[in-house]
Amino acid sequence: MRKQIAAANWKMNCTVQQANELIDGLINAKIKIGPEQEVVLAVPFPYLILAKEKLKKIPGFKVAAQNCYTQPSGAFTGEVSAIMLQSIGVDFVIIGHSERREIFGEQNKMLSEKVNTCLGHGIKPIYCCGEPLQIRESETQNEYVSAQIKEGLFHLNNSQMENFVIAYEPIWAIGTGKTATADQAQEMQAHIRHILAQKYGSLVAASISILYGGSVKAGNAKEIFGKPDVDGGLVGGASLNVLEFSAIIKGLK
Ligand code: PEP
Repeated sequence: MRKQIAAANWKMNCTVQQANELIDGLINAKIKIGPEQEVVLAVPFPYLILAKEKLKKIPGFKVAAQNCYTQPSGAFTGEVSAIMLQSIGVDFVIIGHSERREIFGEQNKMLSEKVNTCLGHGIKPIYCCGEPLQIRESETQNEYVSAQIKEGLFHLNNSQMENFVIAYEPIWAIGTGKTATADQAQEMQAHIRHILAQKYGSLVAASISILYGGSVKAGNAKEIFGKPDVDGGLVGGASLNVLEFSAIIKGLK
């Protein structure tokens, strides 16, 4: 069974006091996480050790970084490597979030190298894909997202792709309050699983968790996550509120 995942992307938010409150709030909410479910907190770099420490005894909770560099070490001022993240026990890294692609110019080739460095150090990438509004309006989103998946991931072998995690995040729905409908999410995520099955076979494709991201909230999570190819969500704004995010976790299949 592939995992159903509620992943919080805090982005560049929170002081350490707020980070403490948010994590404590989630722990105190005592949400029951099933054996096939996972909650992932992608916190800013300065809070990774804190989050690992607080969550180490809470079943079902994992910690993610929001980025890492392609190289293991060296003269790359300001960057953080997968080895560093591995050394503090980070479980996941978000790779290729649309904000990294759009603001920092990260492209599929570089992202494929980031995926490699994560896998090489025992960290699971959460590989993001998703189309901008003009691509959706020109109805070429399937081709656009296919290219992101192929160029970013198709150099990996079957065993590297087993239980992989992908997040489909249409850019027009991120932080805009404009959510893709559950049917739009399902349609694209079935397409993604189809191209994965063509390359890796249906068993591997069925083991891959495909998350939806883009204005997921307590009020729409259950409907979106209920679709067969939606295995949970990558949640930005709503993950900064304990009540909202707790309700989103409870919406997982
Ligand atoms: C995100 O940052 O990945 C995201 C989906 O943001 P939001 O939930 O705020 O749209």
